Amino acid sequence: MIDIGAGGPFRVSARARVAIALAASALAASALGACGSSSSSSGAGGGSGSGTAAAGPHSRPAPRRVPALALPPNPRPRSVRVPILTYHRVHVYATELTKSTPDLTVEPTVFAAEVAALDRRGYHAIGQGQLYAALFEGRPLPPKPVLISVDDGYVDGLKEILPVLRRHHMVATFYIITGRFHEPGFLTAGQVRQLDGAGMDIGAHTRTHVSLPALSGAALTSQVAGSRRDLERVLGHPVDYFAYPYGAVDANVIASVRRAGFVLAVTTQGGTRESSLAPLTMPRIHVGRAMTPASVLAAVAG
Ligand SMILES: [Zn+2]
Repeated sequence: MIDIGAGGPFRVSARARVAIALAASALAASALGACGSSSSSSGAGGGSGSGTAAAGPHSRPAPRRVPALALPPNPRPRSVRVPILTYHRVHVYATELTKSTPDLTVEPTVFAAEVAALDRRGYHAIGQGQLYAALFEGRPLPPKPVLISVDDGYVDGLKEILPVLRRHHMVATFYIITGRFHEPGFLTAGQVRQLDGAGMDIGAHTRTHVSLPALSGAALTSQVAGSRRDLERVLGHPVDYFAYPYGAVDANVIASVRRAGFVLAVTTQGGTRESSLAPLTMPRIHVGRAMTPASVLAAVAG
């Protein structure tokens, strides 16, 4: 556990702050308050980071410690009910410079209200590692688990979504298209690193967002294994999670995702139950523009 007191005024990393927040909410409230003003230094790392907390000095952005996960060859059949919500954009649609289709954009005030509603009702946003441990190791999940996922890697992830999640001590998974780091409206590699450093899960969403069943051979491998490699280079740790563009999937694509080493992958098929026997085709709940806090709660409750 991090010793907050020993951390000095500003050098407790964002990652450490989230760890604290997730571990002990009462303590976290004061920790976040104390460190909030230095949050802009997170991810930048460099500088005189000496004499910091026990987490270790950060002369450069330290990669998160992420264990290498693997799919067991013969998993014990297990299933858990974890609604996985799918968001895309969280932005004021009228002012979007990089337009998405309207249904894929949730207004920031609505998103904040939806997350607040989940929090108020006692839902716990879990990370992919917790889902993996529940499916393959039988580890318990918190009560009323929900997994929040955000597709496509718009810059909204950092600007609109992360602040709301932090307020509620929640985590989410961001599925990133690795060929878009330099496109306007999308997260840069450095910004993806910031999300990762803030304790969020990062998954791959191919290099160019193509429908994968149309591909085979080297082209398919490049989109699947290639996007994993791209992200691992950016983050400096294993990237084990994948989302199929358009939810489009077939047996050949699943085999490619398995070969690439991903352990959990999501489709756009509706549903709330995940199985250890189908970890690479997990269903999700689309949260579109027409949803409200009440309809999100209804969808999650099933
Ligand atoms: Zn997508």
